[in-house]
Amino acid sequence: MTIKQTASKPKATTKMKVARPKPRLNLWDMTHDQAMAAYVKGFTVPKEIPKGKVLVHNQVAHTTRSRTAVNGFRAWFQDRTEDIEPCKCGWAGLPHYRVKGIPIASPSTRK
Ligand SMILES: [Zn+2]
Repeated sequence: MTIKQTASKPKATTKMKVARPKPRLNLWDMTHDQAMAAYVKGFTVPKEIPKGKVLVHNQVAHTTRSRTAVNGFRAWFQDRTEDIEPCKCGWAGLPHYRVKGIPIASPSTRK
C-alpha cells in the first residue's frame, strides 16, 4: 500500500503584496493627554514645571524624594484636565497632581 504523496503541489498562491502602511505616529490618533504629556526625565526629580502645564505622577508608592522611573514610579507634565486632582504627598516639593480614582500606594507598606 503506497500512499501517494503529492509533494508540494503548487497552490494558487496569490501573492498579494498588500502595501501595508508603516505604523507611524499619528498625533491625531493619540488622546489629548498623551499628546500633551511629556514624561519627566527618568531618574530625576523635577525642579520646575513648564508654564501652562501641571506635574502629575502615577500611583506607584514613592517617597517625597523618589526619582522617576524607580519601581515604576512615573511623573509627567500635562495640561490641567478633569481626571487629575491635587496631590498632597509632598513629592518633589512642587505642587502637583495625581490621577483621580487611583489611590496612592502607601510607601510605608513597602519595606
Ligand atoms: Zn503626589
